[in-house]
Amino acid sequence: MDRILLKISGEALRGKREFGIDPEVLNNLADDIIKNMKNASIAIVLGGGNFFRGRDAEILNLDRVDCDYMGMIGTIMNSLALKSVLISKGVGCELFSSLDIAPINNYYKDDAVKALDENKVVIFAGGTGRPYYSTDTAALLKASDIGASKVLMGKLGVDGVYDSDPRLNPNAKKYDILNHRELIENNLAIMDLSAAVIADDNNIDIIVFNILEENSIERAIKGEISHTLITRRG
Ligand code: UDP
Repeated sequence: MDRILLKISGEALRGKREFGIDPEVLNNLADDIIKNMKNASIAIVLGGGNFFRGRDAEILNLDRVDCDYMGMIGTIMNSLALKSVLISKGVGCELFSSLDIAPINNYYKDDAVKALDENKVVIFAGGTGRPYYSTDTAALLKASDIGASKVLMGKLGVDGVYDSDPRLNPNAKKYDILNHRELIENNLAIMDLSAAVIADDNNIDIIVFNILEENSIERAIKGEISHTLITRRG
């Protein structure tokens, strides 16, 4: 079965709340994942921006590295919540953390691949485990490790990569296909550049789509949703 990695920003889990997790959004996400277990072997990386982002450090006059750890802990909170809902729905699910928090499983590639081969949903928490990085970079690193065919990058209300922010510029032009190098050279801020470099080095396709669309995960897996494909070809 095709192995995919789904990256969803923490912001998407916030729903209409100002902070943290909206239980309805989480429940719907879990149902969508379960529905698609027949279509692909699914690994997930959740962001942590609904709790904290390292770039808030300056505004709050806090240390950047401390704030990055706070962000990474946010990804673990989101991941625990998703795991909890999936398990409560009777689905096999394993969580691996790149940040060492006993008794949560430490990330080890072979264990993650084994869990995927056992038809479990795998959640990667804690980002890369290092400050100054993002969960986009973590998603591409993990996708490379597990040999995912592609990364599905669900965005909040944006259905792909544009030449300028479509929320600010109604004439922004959407790219249907881009190669990783074009993304990097044009500094198209849809993801971290380090994530794009890893995708290029490891020849991983990225599908950028709008997570808020109807049945978005299923349609993204099947390539039937409005999206931008970032690939080495093209
Ligand atoms: N973070 C980090 N290293 C990582 C991943 C995340 O330091 O490998 C921190 C960083 O401060 C980031 C925050 O965790 O701002 C939340 O992650 P991210 O911004 O990627 O979440 P998203 O925007 O996707 O919700």
